[in-house]
Amino acid sequence: MVILLGSSSQNKPLPLVPIRDGVVFPHTETVLTFGRSKSVSAMDAAFSQDRLIVFALQKNTRANDPKTEEINSKGTLCQIERMIRDEAGNNVNALVKGLARVEIEQFESDQPYFLVKIKEINEIKDESDEVIALSKHITQLFRTAANLGKQIDFLTFMNIVAGLLPGELADQVASTLDVKPEQKQELLEITNIKERLLKVNELLTHEVRVLELEKKISSKTQERFDKSMREAMLRERMKAIEKELGEGDENKEIKELRDNLKKLGMPKDIEEKIDKEIKRLEQMSAYNPEASYLRTYLDWILALPWNVKSPNNVDINDAEKTLNKDHYGLEKIKDRILEYLAVLKLHQQREHEEEQNASGDKQNGEAAKTENIVRPNQEGKQKMATILCFVGPPGVGKTSIGKSIAKALGRKFVKMSLGGIRDEAEIRGHRRTYVGALPGRIIQGIRQAGTKNPVFMLDEIDKVGTDFRGDPSSALLEALDPEQNYAFSDHYLEVPFDLSSVMFITTCNVLDTIPPALRDRLEIIHFPGYTQEEKFHIAGGYLWKKQKDAHGLDNNELTVTNNGIREIINRYTREAGVRNLERELAAICRKVAKNIARGKKRKVKITPRNLHKYLGPRKFSETLAEKKDEVGMSTGLAWTEAGGDVLFIEVALMPGKGSLLLTGQLGEVMQESCKAAVSYVRSHYKLFKLPEKFYQKIDIHVHVPEGAVPKDGPSAGVAIATALVSALTKNPTKRDVGMTGEITLRGRVLEIGGVKEKVIAAHRAGLKTVILPKENEKDLEDIPKNIRKSIKFVFASQVEEVLKNALKNPIDKK
Ligand code: ADP
Repeated sequence: MVILLGSSSQNKPLPLVPIRDGVVFPHTETVLTFGRSKSVSAMDAAFSQDRLIVFALQKNTRANDPKTEEINSKGTLCQIERMIRDEAGNNVNALVKGLARVEIEQFESDQPYFLVKIKEINEIKDESDEVIALSKHITQLFRTAANLGKQIDFLTFMNIVAGLLPGELADQVASTLDVKPEQKQELLEITNIKERLLKVNELLTHEVRVLELEKKISSKTQERFDKSMREAMLRERMKAIEKELGEGDENKEIKELRDNLKKLGMPKDIEEKIDKEIKRLEQMSAYNPEASYLRTYLDWILALPWNVKSPNNVDINDAEKTLNKDHYGLEKIKDRILEYLAVLKLHQQREHEEEQNASGDKQNGEAAKTENIVRPNQEGKQKMATILCFVGPPGVGKTSIGKSIAKALGRKFVKMSLGGIRDEAEIRGHRRTYVGALPGRIIQGIRQAGTKNPVFMLDEIDKVGTDFRGDPSSALLEALDPEQNYAFSDHYLEVPFDLSSVMFITTCNVLDTIPPALRDRLEIIHFPGYTQEEKFHIAGGYLWKKQKDAHGLDNNELTVTNNGIREIINRYTREAGVRNLERELAAICRKVAKNIARGKKRKVKITPRNLHKYLGPRKFSETLAEKKDEVGMSTGLAWTEAGGDVLFIEVALMPGKGSLLLTGQLGEVMQESCKAAVSYVRSHYKLFKLPEKFYQKIDIHVHVPEGAVPKDGPSAGVAIATALVSALTKNPTKRDVGMTGEITLRGRVLEIGGVKEKVIAAHRAGLKTVILPKENEKDLEDIPKNIRKSIKFVFASQVEEVLKNALKNPIDKK
């Protein structure tokens, strides 16, 4: 660094001007304007002496007359190159040149201007290759910024790209950065050149990124604008040409819209309204951006099946045949559906008769024409006010039964998932004024179906949420309610659409999360999940053929043995439905099809032995029954969204002070069950031959593995109590015994839900005995015979009975 402060000036105080919102860097030249009288007198004083002056950023931009402590202690020593007063003589413009970084050592006076003693700050130099490379990179980046439109003074630009010493480069680029004054001050204060370059690089890189984004955005806007301008121009030109050719006043597009509108057969009042909209489009200049929104709107209106229906032909016998042909088992469910269809048929017949009577009454012209406005007969509808709701885990055939119903009725089938919807507009559409507005999912489904009476499946209604964007379930209720849905109002359409002939079917995994108002409307049909035997029949009789057909394989090419199918079910899947099973079968077909297509093999027979070649190693190795009995561990039966399941309760005892630790994501109710179980054991210590205050010297830890899955509900009570007693009395539990039931403090066992699902899960897991609450004995009749035969059921009303059956040794013997 050149020593700028000669010995004469080294100790001499110099005038200082605080700057509100900028930093002057060494190695730069810049023009500054001064208005405050204190600043002007400082400038005058400096200019009349050796032209040296110190600039420092004030800490508070707003302070008009900052105090000494409000001024940054590090600033820049500058030389005034030129100075001009404006005409009124109030302001001074000055061209100044930054000479060096300085530190203010002392304020000598603050009137009439600041006088300070300063010390030059020495820079820490660095001429390593890294610094050279960094300098080059910054120069290049600077060029890029300039090309992207960064505002830079031409001389500065030329200076920088011509190549500078690293320190100069850092300062010059820093002075052009588009950053806050504090950030510039920070740069000024970095004495190590390499560090300063790094910081400059970081800030400049960010600036370039912002510039790139700005450019992208502006070019996109331009593109969009160009496109709509072009379209508008072409339309105008087309209009002019048509006029020249004398093709009538009515533009072709408008004519087409009108023709289509007439064909729709929509209610007259609505037709008039839409006709008005067409007129509005006709009168609109093609340059009006609204024209394109209006066109989209009319497209939607004209694409809806206002009066298109599939013929109504419910033949119950045919329906039964279709349902049976497509699905194995599910007898109860099929029966309920057939009953439902029978009622539907009777209603339709009555409606039809009434309609005929009504149209007979008004025989003559006028009345017959207005028939479209007649709203569907309300009396008939009110009695059919239930909507089917299929409840069950994934893959149990809910969708496919829905499809079969549509097939049996000869109607179209559409499915819309409502999972994760939180916004009312998803159901009911956005208002047209909203940019990118569209109708809601119901109307979208109707358009997709192309008829106004499809079978419309609303999937996952238990996953509809509510938040500040309105309540989607109330919109849903309006769509489903036969008393209101003949005039369903979608915000986008603005005109009512008649949904009364749609057959809605809803599906969900659980019922709890469905709002009660909606649930009241639903006729619930439970799909409990399949037993291994049922799965075997479904796989052999339906899925296997379906997958083979889908992969273009015939019977000669691919076969599977019965044991092969059982092996896939037992060792490659563990689920309530058959979705993964179908996936595994598809995987086999895919592999075989590939081998055949490559000419490797002509015939394949799948057996348990060669399965691993197609599906890899077994995914589920052993069933529970194959494991050994253990102390402090019991097998509970649970019911989750994915169907029934077995879960294990582990209890560990440690020396401690009587505290209870619960882990494994247990819900509140389940935690309470744990506490109740502990209290039960404590109060029955005599029965278990435990010392009276046994709990004072131990800590009890209850854990339910698979910690990522939240678990809740009271039904694990007996399983927790069993694991606890087993741990305390060192009496192992029988591994092949599963149990479920709520317990009270006195040891009574209370009724629980989901028995069928739980028993099927127990069977799937290979359990031999299932302990259920006494009050659940009545649920046994729902359970398939073969399972009833292969499992021993114990009905308990007291925990002691549970323990007697679940523990290996009698409880009173230690
Ligand atoms: P969900 O809608 O309940 O999740 P799906 O209807 O998608 O289940 O069923 C998954 C697959 O299993 C489908 O290919 C379906 O045809 C088949 N499937 C389910 N249950 C049966 C059954 N009882 N008989 C024949 N196939 C079935």
